[in-house]
Amino acid sequence: MILRIIYQRSIQVKTSFYALECCYNGNTMKVELPKSVQEILDKFDKAGYEIYIVGGAVRDIIMGKITNDWDFTTNATPEQILKIIPGGLYNNQFGTVFTDNPDDLQRPHEITTFRKEENYTDFRHPKKITWGKNLEEDLSRRDFTINSLALDKEFKVIDLYKGQEDIKNKLIRAVGDPDARFGEDALRMMRAVRIASELGFLIENKTFEAIKKNAPLINKIAKERVKEEFFKLLASPNPYDGVVLFRNSGLMQEVLPEMEKCFGVEQKSPGRHHIYDVGNHLLMSLKFCKSADPVTRFATLIHDIGKPLTYKKLENGTITFYNHEMVSTKIAENIADRLRFSNKEKDKFIKLVRWHQFTVDEHQTDSAIRRILRNVGLENVEDMLALRIADRLGGGARETSWRLEEFKKRLIEVQKQPFTVRDLKIDGNDVMKELNLKPGPEVGKILNDLFDKVVEKKIENEKKELLAALRP
Ligand code: ATP
Ligand code: MG
Repeated sequence: MILRIIYQRSIQVKTSFYALECCYNGNTMKVELPKSVQEILDKFDKAGYEIYIVGGAVRDIIMGKITNDWDFTTNATPEQILKIIPGGLYNNQFGTVFTDNPDDLQRPHEITTFRKEENYTDFRHPKKITWGKNLEEDLSRRDFTINSLALDKEFKVIDLYKGQEDIKNKLIRAVGDPDARFGEDALRMMRAVRIASELGFLIENKTFEAIKKNAPLINKIAKERVKEEFFKLLASPNPYDGVVLFRNSGLMQEVLPEMEKCFGVEQKSPGRHHIYDVGNHLLMSLKFCKSADPVTRFATLIHDIGKPLTYKKLENGTITFYNHEMVSTKIAENIADRLRFSNKEKDKFIKLVRWHQFTVDEHQTDSAIRRILRNVGLENVEDMLALRIADRLGGGARETSWRLEEFKKRLIEVQKQPFTVRDLKIDGNDVMKELNLKPGPEVGKILNDLFDKVVEKKIENEKKELLAALRP
């Protein structure tokens, strides 16, 4: 066995950490175990209960990775757990007690009584949660072999489903019969693809075939949960590989059918440079997207999603997609609503898709550039450029052009100038006094005209000059 954990419980490397040495793919690594984790193991042990570290934490440790996400399982009931951890917070829906993780307050330690699951009714939630008799039963209800490993208080690995071997071979394999497991809880299919993308693993054949067969069941799952998994996939180190897997598994057809329709839509035209069909161009754009933000990555992935609906082939063979960014924006809006994006996420997602075609013509006026900034929002400018560059690279063009570089410089320049009418050195009162006007739309119009003149550098933003410009 290449994989082993040499435990050195008595060796304290730092005051607050215990060390575990593990060997993964021939590399020996030291993983530090937080003191708070050690304390939980000790407390349960002293109280005479079984306690194990389970799930992602064990998988990560074996791969030599530090984790902040600690799950435990025990034969103590929730009431007994609360006696051992008096400050714990009990969530009776899952039978889990949460307690503070001093190393990461966002991710409390989770201690759950051994569980077994039965009677799935809605492809997601078991009808009732029943306590399992022992660790074996608890491990058997877990989704994948690499997630069904446990570490006991002596740091011995308990591996009933050859999870370590699958880690070594970089494989996601369902525990038990994959077809039945996805039938019980369809979210597991998204988890398989997402975890594969995060870890750079492949999905084992039978498990993959079962996803293809059961993919339509994903529609039974709450959209928030599907979205959460897809965002995690997009945020992973190789989202391109993850989305290809997502497509090949049949899940794209269910979750993003509008995207699936982009494959096979040709965009080569006489005299126009396009090396990929729409779907593959979108995938390649994602591959080149430099932003780490999942919303920007998602927008990059679907920025041309309206092309199949706007496709036209002219008599001379030219293919056009007139108005595709408007149609793409509408589809983006539908996707954001369907997948229950937050308002903030939706706003950014739509803006990036809507304005991705901005022109970078060197003859553009400052007000045109200002308009782009206003449309897309200052806070999104960097991600807008990331999408644009990804779009170029994903279409086989060079990363940048002198026009784009020029445009970036002007974006910065323009931002240093007064930005809205409110930044003018005179206001509506000055206009009314100077021209003897009553309040009304006329005043606003005059201010806007002045503002444009300042932007076009025809006059300076100085009170004296502005007032002078008002007079005929
Ligand atoms: P991550 O924290 O990165 O999402 P994880 O493997 O720790 O990865 P969690 O969602 O924290 O995933 O779940 C903890 C453990 O609970 C998993 O490792 C797995 O053993 C089990 N688990 C989670 N979701 C399911 C599920 N849908 N079906 C079966 N077991 C599950
Ligand atoms: Mg976890």
